[in-house]
Amino acid sequence: MTTSFDPAAVIAEFIDAVAPYDPQPDSSPVALLGLRTALGDETFALSDHVIRAMCRALASYRDPEDRGECVACGGRHLDENLRCQECGRLHGVLGQVIADHVRRVAEAAEGGAPSGSA
Ligand SMILES: [Zn+2]
Repeated sequence: MTTSFDPAAVIAEFIDAVAPYDPQPDSSPVALLGLRTALGDETFALSDHVIRAMCRALASYRDPEDRGECVACGGRHLDENLRCQECGRLHGVLGQVIADHVRRVAEAAEGGAPSGSA
């Protein structure tokens, strides 16, 4: 596990972690990655295997802040209470209860019978 946030060290660690499983370790790099940080410039030769490993890592990545998408506005920033920080819509069980209650109150206010699907 990475203990440093030096970007070059992170990339080097990723390359080292996937290199033992490269089926063609002697193949030519498919990309050169130039990296400029406060610590200096570095260049990394990336094999096809490393790029494919990055694709798999990305496909399985889930951000710890990802709590889903707001059903009202499509926002991606739900707080720890599953409240949308963009439009204020509540999600989860509590959000559903509140939304159902608001809908029933609105229907009652319109004089219609509450829907019997609850
Ligand atoms: Zn929203």
